[in-house]
Amino acid sequence: MAEKLIFEISQEGKRSFTMPCWDDCGKIDLDEKFLRKDEIGLAQVSEPEIVRHYVNMSTLNHHVDKGFYPLGSCTMKYNPKVNEKLASFEGFSEIHPYQPDETIQGVLKIYHDLADMLCKISGFDKVSLQPVAGAHGEWTGLKVIRAYHKSNGNPRRKIIIPDTAHGTNPASIVMAGYEVVELKSNAEGLVDIGELREKFDEETAAFMITNPNTIGLFEKNIKQIAEIVHSKGGLLYMDGANFNALLGIVRPADLGFDVMHYNLHKTFSTPHGGGGPGSGPIGVVKKLEKFLPVPDVTEKEGKYFLDYEKPESIGKVHSFYGNFLVIVRAYVYMKILGSDGLHKVSENAIINANYVKKMLEDTFDLPYKQNCMHEVVFSGENLAQFGNTGCGQETSRFWHSRADNLFSAFGSRSNDDRTDRN
Ligand SMILES: *Cc1c(COP(=O)(O)O)cnc(C)c1O
Repeated sequence: MAEKLIFEISQEGKRSFTMPCWDDCGKIDLDEKFLRKDEIGLAQVSEPEIVRHYVNMSTLNHHVDKGFYPLGSCTMKYNPKVNEKLASFEGFSEIHPYQPDETIQGVLKIYHDLADMLCKISGFDKVSLQPVAGAHGEWTGLKVIRAYHKSNGNPRRKIIIPDTAHGTNPASIVMAGYEVVELKSNAEGLVDIGELREKFDEETAAFMITNPNTIGLFEKNIKQIAEIVHSKGGLLYMDGANFNALLGIVRPADLGFDVMHYNLHKTFSTPHGGGGPGSGPIGVVKKLEKFLPVPDVTEKEGKYFLDYEKPESIGKVHSFYGNFLVIVRAYVYMKILGSDGLHKVSENAIINANYVKKMLEDTFDLPYKQNCMHEVVFSGENLAQFGNTGCGQETSRFWHSRADNLFSAFGSRSNDDRTDRN
């Protein structure tokens, strides 16, 4: 049944709750010209009406709280409810950013321990939890790369990315003061080694790459790629948005990466719909440590404090210390799963994506046939026959029949969550 608009339910004078008036109620000491002259025009509804309206609306769409959702990435992945519960604890949600260090020791310990866990799982020497999104982590990481090259006498001019790069990569490169050079992928959908060798010169600061890449394929020549980049004095940047394919399987630092950003809101839970909030920490190898942003959360004799004494740091990249409650969620998620659990997250992500690939490969066009990692990408090639309107009735019927195949193969569209392991 179609849900009415909230303005259609609205009736003059209805309120959800009202506060009793005090003396001088409604009198505001403000210049007349700043006061609103017209009605604000909000819907007028009772509390049960407003709650029912939004609950009904939430059931009109398909979403992860309602049934299986075949996407393990940021917005629609499953986010355990216990994370929310813990992130809402008063001791976390009600602290003030200017509270003295000694009154937030527990909070600082969470920062410190999470950074440690992120180092362990990726092989990097130091992690900064300051950046508040993947894109922000990219920019911070690139500023660190720039500071490193500058300290060696030349910041260099260019950064190379593959043509499959996420849109934020070239944007961050430009924001960090570099030129973007694009590399064409080879027939397998991977980095063309010959072309990289040709293009990576001594004016190139870094090669920036996602592994597994945006079409879900592992860059199997990554060690050779690292060799090429390092032989020219360059650095290798890993966009860690797809890290959920690697947990406990391989550590990016061991593959030759020098800097990486994590998207805590993708790999380590946190609902992220509508653009935020997020957290995009970066991890670096030893030689880049001193350039990381301030403050650093440091421990000395069992006490935690915020360290601003880093003369070669790129400086501050965000107000206060990053998005703390996202950090709490990631911390809870990792602690609950433990190292075995995190390893299983990646194994399940990979096996599930390959099941989906197998089940749909005869139905849709699959440009790259090899086994995938955490996701599989089909092309819309064989939908062209339905014309280019995109959402015409024919196309819609076609999609629905295919989606039904998928859902029935996985159980059902209902609340059966047996297969929802991502
Ligand atoms: C999501 C994503 C980003 C950007 O991360 P945000 O946290 O959304 O800023 C960068 N690269 C890849 C491959 C991504 O999937």
